[in-house]
Amino acid sequence: MQGTHIKTIIIGAGPAGITCGYTLVKNEEECLLIDRCTFPREKLCGGGLTPRALRLIDRIYEGLKYDYCQVNTVDLYKSVNKICTFRLDTGIRTVARKDFDHTLLKEYLAKGGRFITDIVSKIEEKNGIIHLTLASGKMLTCNYLIGADGTNSIVRKYIQPQFDRGIICLEKTVAGDNPIKDIRVYFDDAYPKGYLYIFPNPWGYVVGYGNGNTDIDIFHESLERYGLTNDNKTKGAYIPTFCKFDYPFYKHIMLIGDAGGYVDSMTGEGIPHAIKSGENAALSIINDTDFRELNKPVFDVVKRRMKMCLIFFYPPINKLFLYICKRPSLFIKINRKVNQALTGRYMI
Ligand SMILES: Cc1cc2nc3c(=O)[nH]c(=O)nc-3n(C[C@H](O)[C@H](O)[C@H](O)COP(=O)(O)OP(=O)(O)OC[C@H]3O[C@@H](n4cnc5c(N)ncnc54)[C@H](O)[C@@H]3O)c2cc1C
Repeated sequence: MQGTHIKTIIIGAGPAGITCGYTLVKNEEECLLIDRCTFPREKLCGGGLTPRALRLIDRIYEGLKYDYCQVNTVDLYKSVNKICTFRLDTGIRTVARKDFDHTLLKEYLAKGGRFITDIVSKIEEKNGIIHLTLASGKMLTCNYLIGADGTNSIVRKYIQPQFDRGIICLEKTVAGDNPIKDIRVYFDDAYPKGYLYIFPNPWGYVVGYGNGNTDIDIFHESLERYGLTNDNKTKGAYIPTFCKFDYPFYKHIMLIGDAGGYVDSMTGEGIPHAIKSGENAALSIINDTDFRELNKPVFDVVKRRMKMCLIFFYPPINKLFLYICKRPSLFIKINRKVNQALTGRYMI
């Protein structure tokens, strides 16, 4: 059966896919965005937008209006004991992803972008054309396929059948009046290679945790220990922290955002990487340039952060970090480094 042909099809309407589509449509390029979910949809995420992410959002989505909480401090704990408070020069905005992604999608639609709700279930290539079968039975063909379909990416599976999806994170969303106005990060001997976090947002807060051996009982015990509510449902999602990066690229099939493994392994931050890799994929189509070259800065920084993460969570180094944080004279330097890391201009 012959399907409809569209030059570029983007699978996944998270920040990566929407930014790719938005950039294409702004440049009068034909594209179609497909997502399995009806929006607004839930997305497990702390929703932290660092100064780096904010600059990208301001540049690409000029004048975008969305609900957020302004956070200017991050409290660091070792178990129940507070170690220090980082003061953020520019602050972090925290958003509820359900609303934020919906706002981005509305911007894309307002620019004239096309969007359908469906699940891409099969990918094939014939004579240089990509054929997609959707769960609804629809058949589509395209010249360029963008995999923006997150950690369980069907596009990545197509070009790299055995891939590591990363580590599991658990999270709870707590709605209602929130006494917690800052971000909190808890290190604990129960999860030596990870941490538990609390991010306030316009609805309340999210509390999440992940490490190499994420365990729901440890998560729930920790909530009790820190005096946090454990009423709501615990949900889990992969975060592509230690994925292999040696998958093949094809000029006409590109992986962006979580589907490409573009996440900071130290912090789990992925929104700016998703936005930037989405923009890069679009620019490579518009200008007929090599995505690998254009996206190299994102690729390089993610690899560098993966190496740093392995060092940071090596127990003696982690212990030294917490020791330095407790020493007022040394803490000033660490606080400066934290601000530099959050504002890093490498992707803008
Ligand atoms: C617990 C947790 C906390 C996090 N906290 C932060 C944070 O505070 N700050 C930050 O910057 N990053 C954070 N991240 C990372 C961030 O959420 C991701 O990096 C970001 O969402 C990636 O965006 P994306 O567009 O690549 O994918 P996603 O936002 O995951 O979007 C993928 C989309 O693809 C769709 N899809 C999937 N398969 C198909 C299919 N077959 N057909 C059609 N549609 C499909 C899905 O429905 C989804 O809408 C966190 C991640 C986790 C798991």
